[in-house]
Amino acid sequence: LTLLLIGSGGREHALAWKLAQSPACGRLLIAPGNPGTAAHGTNLPGLDVTDAAAVVALCRREAVGLVVVGPEAPLVAGLVDALAAAGIRAFGPSAAAARLEGSKAFTKELARECGIPTAAFARFRAVAPALAYLRARTAPIVVKADGLAAGKGVVVAETLAEAEAAVEAMLGGGLGAAGAEVVIEECLVGEEASLFALCDGTRAVLFGTAQDHKRVHDGDRGPNTGGMGAYSPAPVLDPGLEAAVMERIIRPTLDGMRERGTPFTGILYAGLMLTREGPMLIEYNVRFGDPECQVLMPRLAGDLVPMLLAACAGDVSGLAPAWTEAAALAVVMAAPGYPGPVTRGSEIRGLAAAEAAGALVFQAGTRRDGDRLVADGGRVLAVTATGRDVGEAQARAYAALDRIDWPEGFCRRDIGWRAVARAAD
Ligand code: ATP
Repeated sequence: LTLLLIGSGGREHALAWKLAQSPACGRLLIAPGNPGTAAHGTNLPGLDVTDAAAVVALCRREAVGLVVVGPEAPLVAGLVDALAAAGIRAFGPSAAAARLEGSKAFTKELARECGIPTAAFARFRAVAPALAYLRARTAPIVVKADGLAAGKGVVVAETLAEAEAAVEAMLGGGLGAAGAEVVIEECLVGEEASLFALCDGTRAVLFGTAQDHKRVHDGDRGPNTGGMGAYSPAPVLDPGLEAAVMERIIRPTLDGMRERGTPFTGILYAGLMLTREGPMLIEYNVRFGDPECQVLMPRLAGDLVPMLLAACAGDVSGLAPAWTEAAALAVVMAAPGYPGPVTRGSEIRGLAAAEAAGALVFQAGTRRDGDRLVADGGRVLAVTATGRDVGEAQARAYAALDRIDWPEGFCRRDIGWRAVARAAD
């Protein structure tokens, strides 16, 4: 089978690493790919993945048998629809199903109609009614832009003044079309965790859990990022809670989407708040997380390709994904300035030494410059290790990371703190 993987981040490096191990994988193409994915297949840097017709033409020319879409933007833009219309098998949701990530208002309405536990909310397209609504509430309160805003569309406001400013900025056009509508919601209290489900349009199987670290600095301080590290599993999600999330959140979502004529196929990634009243849905993503994918793939036993094919064929009921490694932990190394504008071009050395120390080094914002590997983005590497528990995975990941010779790069030193503290209790 010829596979085409869409994307260029650390998530795609981890997917390429896993897909290439499959006996079913005859040839792996990655578009556009990065220097890390090049070790597992053939990068296609020239293919414009936002041009669905170009992707279809490439698939025909190369006889691609399965397309795996990594990031959300092409899913929301309808790449899977275009491929399906051309008779090309693709793993991931249709544009209509990808609204679960593409529109927070859509997901909140679905949750309300299907009885899925989520924060109480209201939707607004105009400033005045939104401000009137806010003035009748108390802080803290959460203001969200409806559309995709690359992590910049959520404000957890500590004061009403902050919430009002967020409403005015978003509805005032500060985030473009993504902010044409806002959702104002109750602030939930609890520990956050993520659960992944592999879905075939009707059914879902649990596909692991993780916890990430959104803030840029140690102690969960500083601005939000795409994620500075993650570990899997999330110890806080015990088997009882996992079952509750599958039953009360994932299953009614799949039922609701199917009843609407927009069945969900692909990876459904539930961002959860574990409140005193039970798990509640914060948001959905419609693909693997980054860096969560980097901690799921090294733990996944067996072959990923038949699992993706089963979802595409509409029947995941025979699958029971198993996890070989007890725990995995990834530490992201970022370029100076991240999550703001970054300095590019500094040389990175020592990847082989880090891998010799027992880690997998997944690449994201890197570029080859002759024989040199240089930083070329915000998040640059995800140093990933496994262990008997999160603590061991953490120790191994940092021991490997310390062998990387990239003085300009930085990372958090406390990835995994919550799970390690829990184990010490
Ligand atoms: P992501 O980058 O994870 O896709 P996003 O920008 O799409 O994020 P959300 O995940 O909805 O937005 O929210 C981002 C963060 O804001 C959450 O991880 C959570 O910490 C916080 N948050 C969102 N909604 C709530 C809420 N109702 N109560 C408390 N915190 C919340």
